[in-house]
Amino acid sequence: MSENNTIFGKIIRGELPADVVHEDDHVMAFRDINPAAPTHILVIPKRYIVNTLTADSDDKELLGHLVLACAEVARKEGLDGYRLVINNGESAGQTVFHLHAHVIGGRSLSWPPG
Ligand code: 5GP
Repeated sequence: MSENNTIFGKIIRGELPADVVHEDDHVMAFRDINPAAPTHILVIPKRYIVNTLTADSDDKELLGHLVLACAEVARKEGLDGYRLVINNGESAGQTVFHLHAHVIGGRSLSWPPG
């Protein structure tokens, strides 16, 4: 995989600050700088993956771990429900090209999203 020059690569390497709420060997979770809800946390794999379209079977365990980490973060935040969003590709609204799951909650959420 090519060099990770994204903002989130810099956060993982400690080159940029972040409000980290959870971290283990494989994932990091930090508050979104521009929250869309009272709780808005981004959970990212430490391994560089652009999005799920570029992920492969080697990433299977890591992606499962990521989803469970999202639930752990939501529980820690005291949420009884939350929305889990992954934007994959520019046309889907992805702006940072290091895979990240949005954990969104703390208010009533409508469906469908925009
Ligand atoms: P995307 O649109 O790619 O799914 O989501 C990118 C998210 O990253 C956005 O919600 C945006 O607010 C957030 N974001 C962008 N730059 C930074 C940053 O430097 N720090 C943090 N914590 N969040 C960021």
